[in-house]
Amino acid sequence: MVRVFTSARILDTGGGSDDATRVVDILVDGMKISRIADHVDPPEGAGVVDASKYLVTPGFVNAHGHLAMTLLRGLADEVPLDVWLHNYMFPREALMNGDDIYYGSLLALAEGIMSGTTTFADMYFFEDDVARAVDEAGVRANLSTGTASLDNEQGRLEKSEEFVVRWNNKADGRIKASFGPHAPYTTTPAFVMENFERARELGVIVQFHLHETREEVADFTATYGASPISYYADQGYFENPPRLLAAHCVHMTARDAEILRDAGASIALNIQSNLKLGSGIADYRLLLGSGVNLCVGTDGAASNDNVDMLEELRVLGLVMKGSTMEASGISNASLLTMATSNGAQALGFEGVGTLSDGATADLVFWDLEDESFCPRNNVASHLLWSANSRAVDSVMVAGSWVMEHRQLLGIDIDKVRFEVARRARRLADG
Ligand SMILES: [Zn+2]
Repeated sequence: MVRVFTSARILDTGGGSDDATRVVDILVDGMKISRIADHVDPPEGAGVVDASKYLVTPGFVNAHGHLAMTLLRGLADEVPLDVWLHNYMFPREALMNGDDIYYGSLLALAEGIMSGTTTFADMYFFEDDVARAVDEAGVRANLSTGTASLDNEQGRLEKSEEFVVRWNNKADGRIKASFGPHAPYTTTPAFVMENFERARELGVIVQFHLHETREEVADFTATYGASPISYYADQGYFENPPRLLAAHCVHMTARDAEILRDAGASIALNIQSNLKLGSGIADYRLLLGSGVNLCVGTDGAASNDNVDMLEELRVLGLVMKGSTMEASGISNASLLTMATSNGAQALGFEGVGTLSDGATADLVFWDLEDESFCPRNNVASHLLWSANSRAVDSVMVAGSWVMEHRQLLGIDIDKVRFEVARRARRLADG
């Protein structure tokens, strides 16, 4: 299908100015943007859509999360990570089945779409059911089976690898698959190395929680004599590494950051989850100056407690400015880049997260008539610091609508709400 969206306003953040916008025509041909220009003559037979009331942006890339944790939302608000995991999450997760994961994931995907996200990262289990949900919702995702080596489950790495082979580059390229060793405190170093090796062989990324809490780094250091990142580097894990997507990285030294930079790794920042679990606040001066590809994730809805990227981005920007005591420490353009093209790069999606000729048509149409965009003094500023998900009118992924005028097209949201509520009650009862 060929469509031209006429007179759409887009952010022009590449020129170094935060508040520049341009009014353009956007030609979408099949799954891609074929042309963006001041004026595009519609090809014969093309649909023409007046987009003059919209700000059009690339969809957000949510670079770290656990979609089905919507099922566990609100179960533990006042506990630190280790208690939250061992006393509240792991026991309920042991009771989940594939359909629980499917409906929980669909709810997160619906929330994500309705708040402007088109690409998701996931690390969980029953991952085939997550893939089924992603495929039906019509969005883009990089999915991994979260694997621990301390639970004595047989064949876990093989299962993880089978999932990668089954799903990588499926659904017209919308789904990528990866390895997901859970964290240094649930895996042995040898298991981490095996995950790295298999990911390298298959050419996929590794998703890995790293340096989330101070205690986790201290415990590992007491056992192995160095922080997880430094220890893995000393053991040679980062020589010819697969592409690593490290979640959290709250407690980092300059050397840890250098190792990740030199390894070509990305860091997914999860500020709201870290704040809520009392895990701490990263040294943003260090991270921003490190040269590591920084991106943004919401983490799961049991520690956030939603998957709204705009909210995540706003809190991240505020904490970056507040904690470094520098209002100019992070620009509007840099924040938006972290939540779009940096995330796409981290997840291994090429041509995603930008508005340019040849990029994938993953587009969010924001209603500029929403009060939060009035008086349009600075549209990029209004998007980041004033707007919320209410202003998301329509969302397209790979040239197909996944939400049109607030109506989700691939998800029966009433059925999902009913199923999630029913299943969450069963899990909460334990
Ligand atoms: Zn996580």
